[in-house]
Amino acid sequence: MADKRVPLAKAELERVIERYPTPFHLYDEAAIRRNARAFARAFAWVPGGLTNYFAVKALPNPHMLELLKSEGMGADCSSLPELLLARASGIDGERIMFSSNDTPAAEFRKARELGAVINLDDLSHIPFLEASAGIPELICCRYNPGPLKEGNAIIGDPREAKYGFTREQLFDGYARLKALGAKRFGLHTMVASNELDPRYFVETAELLFDLVAELSARVGIRFEFVNLGGGIGIPYRPEQRAVDLDEVALGIRAAYDEKIRPRGLHPLRIVWECGRMVTGPYGYLVCRAIHRKSTYKEFVGLDASMANLMRPGMYGAYHHITVMGKEGLPSDHRYDVTGSLCENNDKFAVDRDLPRIDPGDIVVIHDTGAHGHAMGFNYNGKLRSAELLLREDGSVRLIRRAETPADYFATLDYPGLRAD
Ligand SMILES: *Cc1c(COP(=O)(O)O)cnc(C)c1O
Repeated sequence: MADKRVPLAKAELERVIERYPTPFHLYDEAAIRRNARAFARAFAWVPGGLTNYFAVKALPNPHMLELLKSEGMGADCSSLPELLLARASGIDGERIMFSSNDTPAAEFRKARELGAVINLDDLSHIPFLEASAGIPELICCRYNPGPLKEGNAIIGDPREAKYGFTREQLFDGYARLKALGAKRFGLHTMVASNELDPRYFVETAELLFDLVAELSARVGIRFEFVNLGGGIGIPYRPEQRAVDLDEVALGIRAAYDEKIRPRGLHPLRIVWECGRMVTGPYGYLVCRAIHRKSTYKEFVGLDASMANLMRPGMYGAYHHITVMGKEGLPSDHRYDVTGSLCENNDKFAVDRDLPRIDPGDIVVIHDTGAHGHAMGFNYNGKLRSAELLLREDGSVRLIRRAETPADYFATLDYPGLRAD
């Protein structure tokens, strides 16, 4: 069972709201650090220790990147602004993994300039990279196993995915890279998103270990690392369980001892690009109920919208909801919990059994610490909220202010357009 408690009591949250009006995302620093340490401990046996390149797209805030850097993480980037965020947070060189696709030349140039590890998405990107930025000494390629591996529900069938090289292309690709002067090699794959089954990751590691052996032998190169990508899921539903990282690590260790050591491929580093499992469960979207409406159904309207959290509207994703101060009451009302966008899929929950909600109640939406604020948008003139960090000493720090109409108008130069 996943723990769905909010780290602050109602009275404490009220005090935060006096300073920072709702809605806002609140991130729990102590819980994020605890989780990062458990992740590192589980993979402490890996040659060189665990490297997780935090997927910047999950929570692109330099304050958070700095926090994660202090826990030993690097950054996984796939755009120019993400590279700039990593650099500003003090993450550079090979602590950056540049796992992009359909990549513009300028972004390859910036990644090379920062000394990032470049993870190529396609065979045709080899001459493209050579022409635009030059081939680095250390290079990684992204494998798409196609029919050899089932994708999961969010990512879908790997054969439909736009990402990565086919198996045959990898042999060709590494041979070309070797001929072009590359000397150090990595192999990447990512075929799951929000996956909760530990075996899935063990099987992916086995697949990569076998492939590393074959590529090393046939191409005559030595691999430094395999990159298992991101995709470790989180228990959005209270009845789900978090992935047991020790179980994943033990399974991968057994595969390493069976497939890597006896073939003389040790030491091979094992790295990840997880975003969701690093910060997801430790973020909360704090809102206030502002309306209750009764028509063909019962609706509760919040002061937030899909602009603040898109996952429920976009994927029908479940996000748990707590009504502050009513945690002990029976869930004897059934509501659609909505935002204010003029789109009927702007609902945080549909037919959700909750305690009675009154306008003014503080409503907390769970698991918004990854792919939450980050996916925000401005459709319908909706503004993105603030982000707050609940620090280990209990104080709260504003790490991103809320947008204002002036931000929304910032790219327009139009006489008479005023922000008040
Ligand atoms: C999105 C993404 C990740 C992070 O995925 P999570 O589900 O947040 O762990 C890692 N690597 C790549 C290439 C991605 O596109």
